[in-house]
Amino acid sequence: MKNILTVTDLEVFYGDAQALFGATLSIAQGEFATLLGRNGMGKTTTVTAACGIRASRAGQIHFAGQNVTGWPSYRVARLGLGLVPEQRQVFPNLTVFENLVATAHNRLDQKDPWTLERVYGLFPRLKERAGNLGCNLSGGEQQMLAIGRALMTNPRLLVLDEATEGLAPLVRAEIWHCLESLRSTGISVLIIDKNIGPLMRLADTHNILEKGRTVWQGSTESLRAAPEVLHETLGV
Ligand code: ATP
Repeated sequence: MKNILTVTDLEVFYGDAQALFGATLSIAQGEFATLLGRNGMGKTTTVTAACGIRASRAGQIHFAGQNVTGWPSYRVARLGLGLVPEQRQVFPNLTVFENLVATAHNRLDQKDPWTLERVYGLFPRLKERAGNLGCNLSGGEQQMLAIGRALMTNPRLLVLDEATEGLAPLVRAEIWHCLESLRSTGISVLIIDKNIGPLMRLADTHNILEKGRTVWQGSTESLRAAPEVLHETLGV
């Protein structure tokens, strides 16, 4: 199957400190993939570099059939990469409605594009809170808004950095349920999260980072068959 995203041997530095020593990721079209690893192993660095937010010193990034290595983030976003960032970063002084429409577009002419009504259908809470400012939302509502805002750009690949971090169990369940419901749309999804249980049910493939290097890649089936991998790399 064709890959939507291929990251190869990525090296990224913060000043003199090297954070990535060879991060490699592959996500096939329409696939749900994860990027796993303990705290500080380089997951956020990998996705921010793949999005063009952080520069890489070595390695290659191919997205949607193009070599996007070194591209600025706005160009990668226009090619269809939608990021739900770690701290959500909703616009605090805009309403829910304004957050959703501010960056909305269908530049790629996707069939059945995401509309306000569709996002409100996915997250009814956002419709109820449409007139509320971003800064007055709960963490769960902010995460729903960040996902809705990314979907309104009609991405080919949705990347969630810490999909359910800090959320109450019921809200977490709602986020997992919504992600599951995106399957039928054909979108590709890359998820970073610490909750292995839901990820093993939701995702097709997994990429595991240790100290800035990809140490394991494979399907959910092969990860289930190798519990020692989860134990050694994630301590579960
Ligand atoms: P977490 O699960 O805690 O978010 P992570 O796997 O996403 O961790 P990164 O945030 O990518 O890991 O961090 C990888 C390494 O880079 C860590 O050693 C971290 O200390 C370092 N690092 C991350 N951001 C910066 C920064 N702005 N300046 C300097 N070093 C950084």
